[in-house]
Amino acid sequence: MAKLFLRKKIADRVINGHPWIFANELGDAEGDYEPGDIVEVYSYNGSFVGKGYINPASQIRIRLLTRKKEEAIDDNFFHNRILEAWKYRQQLGYVENCRLIFGEADQMPALIIDKFNDYFVVQTLALGMDKYKGAIVAALNKIFSPKGIYERNDVPVRSLEGMEQIKGFLSDPFPTNIIINENGLKFHVDIENGQKTGYFLDQQDNRRAIEHICKDATVLESFCYTGTFSLHAAHYGAKSVLGIDISENAVATARNNAILNGLDKICTFQAVNAFDVLKLWVKEGRKYDVVMLDPPAFTKTRENIQNAVIGYKEINLRGMKLTKPGGFLVTASCTNLVSPQMFLDTIALAAKDAHRTLRQVVWQTQAADHPILWNIPTTQYLKFLIVQVL
Ligand code: SAH
Repeated sequence: MAKLFLRKKIADRVINGHPWIFANELGDAEGDYEPGDIVEVYSYNGSFVGKGYINPASQIRIRLLTRKKEEAIDDNFFHNRILEAWKYRQQLGYVENCRLIFGEADQMPALIIDKFNDYFVVQTLALGMDKYKGAIVAALNKIFSPKGIYERNDVPVRSLEGMEQIKGFLSDPFPTNIIINENGLKFHVDIENGQKTGYFLDQQDNRRAIEHICKDATVLESFCYTGTFSLHAAHYGAKSVLGIDISENAVATARNNAILNGLDKICTFQAVNAFDVLKLWVKEGRKYDVVMLDPPAFTKTRENIQNAVIGYKEINLRGMKLTKPGGFLVTASCTNLVSPQMFLDTIALAAKDAHRTLRQVVWQTQAADHPILWNIPTTQYLKFLIVQVL
């Protein structure tokens, strides 16, 4: 196994538990390796740091899998890590549906596995992890005897690792439109063509957080995807709910979800661009008791954070103007590039421009099946805020 040595003057980040080693942090190397191979990493003075997979094509040159020299990276390793992660989810009560593996936070860098009852969706987003797809699938089969496993590797980030975008079955083929239960509701999940892995599990606790503000309310949800928050609002007693999303497919599924739950008299959905209609509806003087906003990331790169902030400010400003005095704004941000403080500051700026006072009701993050590791700050990415708009 090749040995790679960290440069003397690198930050303590790696030593303190962060699994990524960037190209410019590596010094000497001993031995040969192929892209995706497991290598040993040592500090400049020769003390063992860990073992991980290497990819010379990637800026993130090595991602560490273990800090134990004696731990072999083999089928057993993947089995044990997945089993450990499953025990953690079970302990916290995420049993039917959960993010089973949340990459770095589960010591499985660049691996995502979502569990939707008996079905599993896998993403291997780095070359070294992709090489172990067989071991990962074997472990899932052994631990869960699943009805199906599907690969959603149609993710642009794979190009940074020199890999193609693909999707398909990792088990015998199965019907990829499935139904899951969440908080007493049922949802269609399109594993093959839905966004990301098909469903946003990270908001499952946050959807419950709207329970008390929705009773008898008129509700607007923008960026509703398959209508998950909208249906929760109706389930919790809303008088009427309008959900909007730019995707025709998402809106079609949202309508089916309303029918599936017998809430189609209360919920209606429209496929429109939120930036156009929110502006128009403010002008028309529309008002709602509850306005919910869960937009996409708006940025994928650090260089464009300012654009994201402008986007968040604009839609939140509109959202506040559409909220009746004393009503509630439910607002989220799903990119780790916008920090919690930056998000709150943006909401505060929007409130100032809208001449409204905010009273904080709920301020939380992603569900605990997406664990946050304190020495890997990017593992915290979701911000979820409910404010009363006075
Ligand atoms: N709240 C949802 C997830 C929302 S993801 C859930 O918990 O399931 C963000 C959504 O915003 C996507 O469905 C995407 O189609 C939609 N979107 C992106 N740009 C939009 C725009 N300009 N107008 C309306 N919807 C948009």
